[in-house]
Amino acid sequence: MEKFIIGNWKMNGTQSLIKTMVESLHKTIEQNSPNAQVVICPPFPYLGLLQKTIEGTAVKAGAQNVYYELSGAYTGEISVNMLTEWGSTYCIIGHSERRSYFGETDELVQKKAVVLLENNITPVICVGETLDQRESGAHEATVVGQLTKALDGISASDLARCIIAYEPVWAIGTGKTASDEQANDMHKVARGKLAELTDESTAKNIPILYGGSVNAKNAASLLSQSDIDGSLVGGASLKPDDFCTIVTSAP
Ligand code: PEP
Repeated sequence: MEKFIIGNWKMNGTQSLIKTMVESLHKTIEQNSPNAQVVICPPFPYLGLLQKTIEGTAVKAGAQNVYYELSGAYTGEISVNMLTEWGSTYCIIGHSERRSYFGETDELVQKKAVVLLENNITPVICVGETLDQRESGAHEATVVGQLTKALDGISASDLARCIIAYEPVWAIGTGKTASDEQANDMHKVARGKLAELTDESTAKNIPILYGGSVNAKNAASLLSQSDIDGSLVGGASLKPDDFCTIVTSAP
């Protein structure tokens, strides 16, 4: 399966980084034909520029959030129609930073997933346990619970159009990466839940990405694990050389 390498810029970046990043990625993709679909998710104000800059390249655009209503009095929010107008074909939802700083719940994530699917934007649904949950042995139940609620009521054929990102909260932006085995084991747990909600062969084809301090050095071994179908990259997605190395690490 083609891997997905998705860069989450969070509240970082500039117009000039959009241009240098796309240029570097375009060159890397032309020269190496990596086995990866590359997506950049910058802050909303850069999406229009990103749409123009990626024209004629294989790079795709994504957003970091969306609201589930289509329009109206929701000051500060962004609708799925706006993402479509900006050429975004992917959207991250349920990132742990949105859950912890902005109160995003599994129920809200579910509503966002539904509206994205209805509008043909691929939801990148983030799940993952905190350090306390891992240390108390609740990591598997936490992730299964998040998936159960976030995917509630979504049909098997719609589920087949989703991307899941497993991001242990203790590994995000901390420099602590889950070991290859820890990550792969959790991906198997998530895939088991997806198989329950769909069937074995559908679940096999739903990309499950790992996120949490992925960098130019650890990407190759993480990406070669049996159940790791790509990575959601934060910090290293702001550095063109490092991000391009991660892209070419896809086996
Ligand atoms: C993320 O933001 O999804 C992430 C995984 O961040 P980092 O790579 O910086 O840990």
